[in-house]
Amino acid sequence: MREVREAFSRFWPLTRGDRRWLVAIVGCVVVAALAETASILLFAELTDNALEAGSLAAFWGPAGAWLAVAALGASVGYLGNSLATWTAERFVLRLRAKVFRHVQDLPPHFFQQHRQGDLVERLTGDVEAIEQMVVSGVVGTASAAFSAVFYSAAALWLRWDLALATFVLAPLFLLAARRFAGRIKEAATDERVADGAITSVVEESLGNVVLTQAYNRRGDEEKRLDREARAWMRASVRGARLSEMYEQFVEVVETFCVLAVIGLGVWEISADRMTLGQLLAFAAFIGYLYPPVRNLGQLGLTLTAATAGAHRLNEILDAEPAVTDPADPVRAWPVRGWVSVHGAGFRYPGAARDSLTDVSLTASPGELVVVTGPSGAGKSTLAKLLLRFYDPSAGVLCLDGVPLTDVPLHFLRENIALLPQETLILHGTVRENIVCGRPGAGDEEIEAAAVAAAAHDFVAALPHGYDTLIAPGTAALSGGQLKRIAIARAMLRAAPVLILDEPTAGLDSMAARRVVQPLRRLMSGRTTIMITHDLSLAPDADRILVVDGGRLVESGTHQELLAREGIYARLAGPYDQEALPAANPAGLLSV
Ligand code: ATP
Repeated sequence: MREVREAFSRFWPLTRGDRRWLVAIVGCVVVAALAETASILLFAELTDNALEAGSLAAFWGPAGAWLAVAALGASVGYLGNSLATWTAERFVLRLRAKVFRHVQDLPPHFFQQHRQGDLVERLTGDVEAIEQMVVSGVVGTASAAFSAVFYSAAALWLRWDLALATFVLAPLFLLAARRFAGRIKEAATDERVADGAITSVVEESLGNVVLTQAYNRRGDEEKRLDREARAWMRASVRGARLSEMYEQFVEVVETFCVLAVIGLGVWEISADRMTLGQLLAFAAFIGYLYPPVRNLGQLGLTLTAATAGAHRLNEILDAEPAVTDPADPVRAWPVRGWVSVHGAGFRYPGAARDSLTDVSLTASPGELVVVTGPSGAGKSTLAKLLLRFYDPSAGVLCLDGVPLTDVPLHFLRENIALLPQETLILHGTVRENIVCGRPGAGDEEIEAAAVAAAAHDFVAALPHGYDTLIAPGTAALSGGQLKRIAIARAMLRAAPVLILDEPTAGLDSMAARRVVQPLRRLMSGRTTIMITHDLSLAPDADRILVVDGGRLVESGTHQELLAREGIYARLAGPYDQEALPAANPAGLLSV
């Protein structure tokens, strides 16, 4: 119960703005329950005065009143239920948006530690489970509580002694619910976890379908899915069995209670202390009373099951973003593009050793600085620090001499454009994919960016030109073409600082050759930090930094470093094919 309280107090604030609707719904619930109570009393009156007496005259009055009460109950019930669904869905909308907003601010390692499918499940299934607790839970509790109060009051009013005798049995329902709650929560947790695992396996398998087909891994993938699906099936069947057991148990208790009432009633009628109408109404109240009492017990079970979802959402909401906006940010200024790193060190959360140690560099406006080094040296980590995905554990990084931690995040990322290693494509048209570099840019600007990125010709040749739909993993365009679209996007962004992470990775030498000119145009006039294994553009660089084991081990121009015959000379050596996997450097140099 403590868990339910905690989860409730955490998510209840999200109902702000809709609480008056909740009050209105509870109002509808009260009126509907009152209407139901009145209709049973009218039924008693009809039985005693019209049915038993065989009097048609005594029929019309109560019948008309009953019809009016039923119509009122139906209208209010409809209104209340529609309002409840609307409010519940608004809650889901808000909660999902809140979790999604939070997830988007989380650092890259969070996504490496959580499977994507599981996160998807948390944002869909678990969000709905919380709604069951907060909105439907409140409405359901109010509805069950008011109905129970009205029916009991009516039963007491009819025959208080008989009513008390039957109320004694009511706690049986709550006891039964308590006994079942723990086991149902366990099953619900297993089910939610298995749900996440199934979504993950399906997503991973579909994303990896080429590997599956090429390496005949169909059987393995099927087994993986089967394992998770069976876990889900077991949990789901266990949960359903427990609920059903509870339902059936309650059903038997209820029958026992109704029979007890009828037995007592028959005795009372035979002693002339009760009319048939009263007995029927009394039995009806007791029959009507048990479902809400049972619902209260069932609600307890639903709430406990929902805490399983709450726990999984809290795991996300409690994950802290690695960086936050400065409390006292510097005001925006026209950025010139001075980038400096002073003694930066960094260790990933939970990692055993530092990924960067005491790295310093400077890049003046318009300069090209190439950062190279063996795989795992810490190059991409440096890019993550420059974009402030993380703050360094030691040292400081500055833009135009201002520490990045004092620059508003939005402004920082507006002024530092990233061309990531993996070409990121949005689901949308080519135009949308380019314009997201600078939302609001006009068609002419988009086209100019595409021309500069050597993308205009092939885009114009597409069936719908700039309006052709593309998506991640699209087959309509080659890797090199997609890269050029990404270059057009970065071009449009017109940020004074550019970070290129392995701009030619994954491209064959012909495709790589085609992106070199666009890249040169993109870099011109901008401070560029290029992280790369492919040293074809290194001779253009104002400075080359060689990182190894997280430390800066060499720096200088291409010629200086070649002359030094150190790591760089080895990396750039024409025969060291392993160090130069991306392209034939000699070929590219001649472009
Ligand atoms: P590559 O050229 O292969 O892309 P890199 O030089 O860019 O390599 P980084 O990706 O910066 O290397 O990684 C530097 C070190 O940090 C590596 O030892 C890597 O294992 C480690 N590392 C990277 N990401 C994480 C993470 N999320 N958690 C822990 N360690 C990490």
